[in-house]
Amino acid sequence: MEAKEFKEFAKAMTDYIAEYLENIRDRQVVPSVKPGYLRPLVPEQAPEKPEPWTAVMADIERVVMSGVTHWHSPKFHAYFPTANSYPAIVADMLSGAIACIGFSWIASPACTELEVVMLDWLGQMLGLPEEFLARSGGEGGGVIQGTASEATLVALLGAKSKAMHRIKEQHPEWTDVEILSKLVGYCNKQAHSSVERAGLLGGVKLRSLNPDSKRSLRGDTLRDAIKEDIKNGLIPFCAVATLGTTSTCAFDALDEIGDVCRENDIWLHVDAAYAGSSFICPEYRYLMKGIEKADSFNFNPHKWLLVNFDCSAMWLKQPRWIVDAFNVDPLYLKHDQQGSAPDYRHWQIPLGRRFRALKLWFVLRLYGIENLQNFIRKHIALAHFFEKLCGEDERFEVVEEVLMGLVCFRLKGDNDLNEALLRRINGRGKIHLVPSKIDDSYFLRLAICSRFSEESDIQESWEEIKASASDVLAENK
Ligand code: PLP
Repeated sequence: MEAKEFKEFAKAMTDYIAEYLENIRDRQVVPSVKPGYLRPLVPEQAPEKPEPWTAVMADIERVVMSGVTHWHSPKFHAYFPTANSYPAIVADMLSGAIACIGFSWIASPACTELEVVMLDWLGQMLGLPEEFLARSGGEGGGVIQGTASEATLVALLGAKSKAMHRIKEQHPEWTDVEILSKLVGYCNKQAHSSVERAGLLGGVKLRSLNPDSKRSLRGDTLRDAIKEDIKNGLIPFCAVATLGTTSTCAFDALDEIGDVCRENDIWLHVDAAYAGSSFICPEYRYLMKGIEKADSFNFNPHKWLLVNFDCSAMWLKQPRWIVDAFNVDPLYLKHDQQGSAPDYRHWQIPLGRRFRALKLWFVLRLYGIENLQNFIRKHIALAHFFEKLCGEDERFEVVEEVLMGLVCFRLKGDNDLNEALLRRINGRGKIHLVPSKIDDSYFLRLAICSRFSEESDIQESWEEIKASASDVLAENK
């Protein structure tokens, strides 16, 4: 493809994207295709001869869109949001054009340096302590990981190497295997499955602790578990606090957990994958009280801050526990400036990395902090609007406190009734929700996901839920 054709193709695609997003409301939110739908729609083999771009464009609706779940439709209320904005889409175009692999500073200095500065911008927006920021001149700094799961694994590996170092100093006679078999980490039973997975991948024990009635992990619970484990000869080495759990968006008692971690010299990682974006609004920062006691902090701008996937922001106070611990330095990756700027390959699992800081830069500049705050506040207000509608209908109950853009609710009645309700709602195909279950109680989650969502959309979703409830209740009489 030559430049002239590229420009035509890209312009046509830009028009298509704008049309798609602006009219996304009118599409069926989850497609009605069955597994295997796509193979018959495309040839058995790749074409021998080149095709015109117009032929590809002509197939997008037929082949792709017929099987797309429209995550950016205001009728999509499943999981948590994933971000989407025009500035981030354009930035990804530029990233695709530069197409550098910024694993070290010299591999593309702008890729590294913009990331360092963007993580400082973002850290300041959240009100993170200076110790986390590169601009403080200390050791700390930020990095863009692909996902929160990777960030948790990286934090756990850092915690592990720090603990190994300390214990070897205290017990030079112990072998690595002996020490490893004693290490134990902690998280809320309601922590995301990626935390358990990080434990498995890291080869260490991880204990899931019971939260309080608000689904929040408390300091005393952690303290008791640590005492018990020490008594049994184990070595506590890390804790993961969740700010905004996946099931109900509950917040662990970070301040209390932080104290316990400090008392026991334990690495504290904070997973704020979804809810972390809200901390750009000062009124929500009370939920991260105690953040200064954490060793690492992570949230996903790609969830709720209008930066398209993938962009998971992570800060570390002492990156050396990752950078030095997993440092392999072959000659072909060395450069003369080593040590004067981060070589991000040491901060992450893979070697390769895209120029993701561009997305942050474009979004932060083209929205401005004020509009990003407005966006978060609007989503939370819409969740409260739904909470009010739900609370006014005596057939329903809202089962958890609504703090962010998520409402957990159910029909008063047993789990079977609520399972039938969800089947009915999703079966009608107008809106899409997923359930969760805690302490054997099944409930539905309505997440505000789309940046196009308005009160009228939430009202429509509510009408759809009410209609489904009436059907299900009539059938269950
Ligand atoms: N942590 C929490 C609290 C989450 O809610 C999620 C996903 O929803 C994750 C971690 C995993 O995020 P990622 O897909 O970026 O790994």
